[in-house]
Amino acid sequence: MIHPKIFVLSAPSGAGKSTLIRRILPKVSNLVFSISATTRKPRPMEQDGREYFFKSKEEFLHMIENDELAEWQEVFGNYYGTPKSFITGNIAKGNSLILDIDVYGKTKLDKVFPENVGIFITAPSVGEITNRLASRKTESAEDLAKRVAKAEEEIAYATTKGNYKYTIVNNILDDAEIELLDIIKSEHGKENGK
Ligand code: ADP
Ligand code: 5GP
Repeated sequence: MIHPKIFVLSAPSGAGKSTLIRRILPKVSNLVFSISATTRKPRPMEQDGREYFFKSKEEFLHMIENDELAEWQEVFGNYYGTPKSFITGNIAKGNSLILDIDVYGKTKLDKVFPENVGIFITAPSVGEITNRLASRKTESAEDLAKRVAKAEEEIAYATTKGNYKYTIVNNILDDAEIELLDIIKSEHGKENGK
């Protein structure tokens, strides 16, 4: 029997957060990925309802008006938000959630779900983040530059105001995965707030 938790994972873009989430999800039972809504266009391998609920700007604004989102944020020129019902529905079923949201979204989420467990993932350096984003080849040169420019700001925010309980430096991927699994396992054994 686990204590269901809301795990909030944030990272500068390119640190390896999606890779880590993909790796751990099949290894932990009762752990569900919180599917955000976004106005960003899908990347080639992404599917609607799997990585994101892909929305038009009008649909997204409608979700805000209807108070359907626990938090939302404009990131890199697109809207991203966490559907409330997805979280409450899974907690009611005894599942834990992994939320992949940016550092400012985490601050907003703290007001709605203050019991969330923050995990900040970073890379050994901004240079390494740049290399990883370049090798991922999913962004235009302009979008890549925006993401790198924001990385230092996000790292500074997360370490001073972000209220993250844990930080993982994703250097060797296998080690970072073990660290993340250990955190989740240990948190599953604790009651909320302990
Ligand atoms: P994020 O979701 O944080 O933006 P990704 O998970 O997409 O980042 O990772 C960015 C790129 O870096 C991907 O091509 C991924 O395969 C690679 N990557 C992830 N972790 C590592 C690591 N520890 N060492 C080297 N490359 C990595
Ligand atoms: P990407 O476009 O690479 O999938 O995500 C870009 C950024 O948006 C990442 O930092 C990611 O964590 C963040 N993000 C994704 N979904 C949400 C969300 O629902 N809310 C907030 N605040 N940020 C999100």
